[in-house]
Amino acid sequence: MINHYGSPKPPVVMVIGGMDPSGGAGLCADIQTLSSLGCHAAPVVTALAVQDTSVVKTFELVDVELIRAQMETVFDDISPSVIKTGMLGSRDVISVVADVLKKQPEIQLIVDPVMSSNNDDSLSEHSLSSTIKELLIPIATLISPNIPEAAVLAGKDPLNTVDADDCAALLYDRDSHCDCLITGTHAESRQVINRYYQQGRKKKEWCWERLQFEYHGSGCTLASAIAAGVAHGLKMEQAVDQAQHYVMKCLVSGFKPGQGQHVPYRLCSNLSAK
Ligand code: PLP
Repeated sequence: MINHYGSPKPPVVMVIGGMDPSGGAGLCADIQTLSSLGCHAAPVVTALAVQDTSVVKTFELVDVELIRAQMETVFDDISPSVIKTGMLGSRDVISVVADVLKKQPEIQLIVDPVMSSNNDDSLSEHSLSSTIKELLIPIATLISPNIPEAAVLAGKDPLNTVDADDCAALLYDRDSHCDCLITGTHAESRQVINRYYQQGRKKKEWCWERLQFEYHGSGCTLASAIAAGVAHGLKMEQAVDQAQHYVMKCLVSGFKPGQGQHVPYRLCSNLSAK
């Protein structure tokens, strides 16, 4: 079996994040995206969220040693090509995840720095920005914040209008060379502008038509689609490009399963989606 990227068997992507029982975001979004893009997902559960497509009512984090054991058990058996993190929820969880990942330096790491849901409900026990900067950015290949997340990580007030270029420059870590994709869904602009940075400098930007609905799980879908592209051997810029085309397709064919936000239809793909 040769998939659409030409790989003879599905590459494995480890996804580390939370369970959203509405199926819109978190690990369900990751697994659907990766399966749809010809990868095999190895999901490590960090949290159980009690939420629907409107609100996060509460969440409970998985014991950190159980998270470590999930990761180590998979690594003993399988060699993932790429790792993607989503909801981590606490500094202790980030520390354990970073500690295990440091022993896998050859695996590319895509970090979606989830701190709250699309409706602004918190998905962390406390502020995670300094821990993400200290422990995850140095080992990451790409970080994919939206503008408010980029602002918080860069030490700026997310309620003020912030300049994405300034945030990317502040997030750049010379020792690690982590690329950065700042998405513009949360901006006021008529179009959604996504900006890709290498070494803190803008390399490329994409302008997308702003769709009329709010989507639950679009950030997870994007980061997982980038992970899929990288797992299939694409260069990061190409993976970022293809992932956006895929996400756009998922959003355009998105649907409203409940009373709240729309959900991307992730099985829409014929892969390269262009
Ligand atoms: N991970 C989990 C478990 C979530 O519940 C959410 C949002 O509710 C997210 C990640 C982030 O979702 P989004 O892709 O909408 O930013």
